[in-house]
Amino acid sequence: MADSTGDQRIEGVGADAQGQPVLLGAACGACGTRIFPAAGVCPHCMSEAMAIEAMPRRGRLYSFSIVHTGPRKWPRPMSVGYVDLENGVRVFSQLRGRPRIDAAVELGIDTVAQGTDGPERGFVFTMLEG
Ligand SMILES: [Zn+2]
Repeated sequence: MADSTGDQRIEGVGADAQGQPVLLGAACGACGTRIFPAAGVCPHCMSEAMAIEAMPRRGRLYSFSIVHTGPRKWPRPMSVGYVDLENGVRVFSQLRGRPRIDAAVELGIDTVAQGTDGPERGFVFTMLEG
């Protein structure tokens, strides 16, 4: 799978055929459960028949919070929340845009922290209008 996420590898992120970032989760070959991040054992049936699978890039915001404190390298205030992807997988992420419950969101890559070695990039979900 192509990697268009830049010079820095981002754990759990790959790219789709259009070069857009995708989260690489896993699907269970025994019961069909899908998860992110990927793991070697299914949390539902304990099968080890897990295969890496690209997750849908869009979903809806399930819940969020605005964080005003934390490690120096984090942006403040920082929006974080749970996104329900179109396949039902729930993902925790930083958010971009003004968060609204049930808003449509799309996956992207952005600076998520300012480390001592420079900016750290990671996946984020951005509110879509409409
Ligand atoms: Zn399973």
